[in-house]
Amino acid sequence: MVRDLFLNKKKASADYETLRRVFTAPEGRSSTLSHIEKEISKNIQRFLSQHIVSGDADPEELERNFKNTSIPEEPIFVSEQADFLLSKVVSQSVHTSSPSFIGHMTSALPYFMLSLGKIMTGLNQNLVKIETSKAFTPLERQVIAMLHHLIYHFSADYYQKTAQDRYNSLGVFCSGGTVANITSLWVARNRLLGPDGDFRGVSNDGVYRALRHYNLEGLAVLVSKLGHYSLSKSCDILGVGKRHLVAVDTDHEGRVNVDSLEKEIHLLREAKIGIVGVVGIAGTTETGHVDPLADMAKVCRRQGCYFHIDASWGGPTLFSEKHKSLLNGIDQADSVSIDAHKQLYVPMGAGLALFRDHQNLSLIEQHAQYVIRSGSRDLGKRSLEGSRPGMAMMVHSALHVLGRKGYELLIDHGIGLAKTLAGMILESDDFELTTEPTLNILTYRYIPPGFKDALSDAGEEQLRNLNQRLNQITVAIQKTQRANGKTFVSRTQLELPQYGDQRIDVFRTVLANPLTDESILKMVLDEQRQIAAELHD
Ligand SMILES: *Cc1c(COP(=O)(O)O)cnc(C)c1O
Repeated sequence: MVRDLFLNKKKASADYETLRRVFTAPEGRSSTLSHIEKEISKNIQRFLSQHIVSGDADPEELERNFKNTSIPEEPIFVSEQADFLLSKVVSQSVHTSSPSFIGHMTSALPYFMLSLGKIMTGLNQNLVKIETSKAFTPLERQVIAMLHHLIYHFSADYYQKTAQDRYNSLGVFCSGGTVANITSLWVARNRLLGPDGDFRGVSNDGVYRALRHYNLEGLAVLVSKLGHYSLSKSCDILGVGKRHLVAVDTDHEGRVNVDSLEKEIHLLREAKIGIVGVVGIAGTTETGHVDPLADMAKVCRRQGCYFHIDASWGGPTLFSEKHKSLLNGIDQADSVSIDAHKQLYVPMGAGLALFRDHQNLSLIEQHAQYVIRSGSRDLGKRSLEGSRPGMAMMVHSALHVLGRKGYELLIDHGIGLAKTLAGMILESDDFELTTEPTLNILTYRYIPPGFKDALSDAGEEQLRNLNQRLNQITVAIQKTQRANGKTFVSRTQLELPQYGDQRIDVFRTVLANPLTDESILKMVLDEQRQIAAELHD
């Protein structure tokens, strides 16, 4: 009986016949793993009681559970594996859906994603080619076009012509913001160092010959110092070099200074450095700031530079009538990254790189004889990744079930909460707001009684010492809070204009969970006060 295997009466693969059954669908839906699913549902209930971690094992204890590195010779029952998973893994995981887990960009998911995840696994479509994905390919192209429209809002007629046309690509689906950024800068590099006479382009002839051909001494990518580290990876992979990711000066709010940007471009060109691209950020990972995108676009146009916008976090702000103007100028970018597993509220990993010019992705086109033949409809011909899951189904579903208005509510709620929290901090006399909220990300720190006056009166040397002490306090509070497991904020280090070049440790909150409310924010601050008081004792 096929069912027996799933009712845990048989071992998985003791012989070939039984092994075959492991790959056969169970009749009905019950399986020995279903109690893990129940446990996850129970966890979702528990989120409402605001605990962010289940289990209290410390890191050393956890590592001990995973020390055995041999692959088992004999098969075991699925139920035995389920017991292991439940006791050692599921029960010791993080409740990223908790409304008091407000420290990272990984947040709650709409409930139907769990079922969609099962459907996706069940179908196991591979988007690399149409022969393994069929309807999923035009579905993905549709989703790409929907998000392209959100950014570039070309005419309905344009999308009618391009969205499903195998010779055009409005964008590419990938595993997240990192791959979206790499893909975009890959296109930018190939555009800068394209074929010319005998030279067959950087893709074919490599960076060394490209530099020689174009009489260049090197390459560079420009971004503010708040650029995501995936840009540094991109520079590494693409032959630009991490040291040639140039950090452009920013204003007191961490936004690119466009005059400095233009000056930097001149300096680089004088030094015979080829500019692969300029990157603007719509929602920096650490502070949620948005660069002056329209002004950056003007500089790029004037200087003939490729302009990429990393909107991995902030892109969906465009759904909000109230806040979309923060991203003015985004439609001028040559390419835009959006992370779907962040503010489009789908599971990891889903991201998109979108291109204003539907020809641009042909700069990275790759063919093989058994798949993705030239002229084919296969999406794999213009994608960094090979085999890819049908995540577009998740995004398609979320876009329909939530709708533009649903996303608008989510965005407005998050930005509203950040403003509320900023207000609470400004009103208190024991917290300091370290960055003003632009989007739904905010940083701040705790200042013990007495420190505030000392900070405002301090000379340079004294200020340094005070901040050093405050840095220690911030780190200690954040670690204790994390260990307590009731509420969670993350921490980062920032340079703040009022404190010169000294790095300041700050708490970082990301307010993207619709279940987070003002009472939880109050709880977070109260707990931090309490921890501080205990540290003091
Ligand atoms: C999260 C993020 C990324 C990286 O995205 P992954 O999905 O983690 O690969 C890149 N840029 C920004 C601004 C981000 O917030």
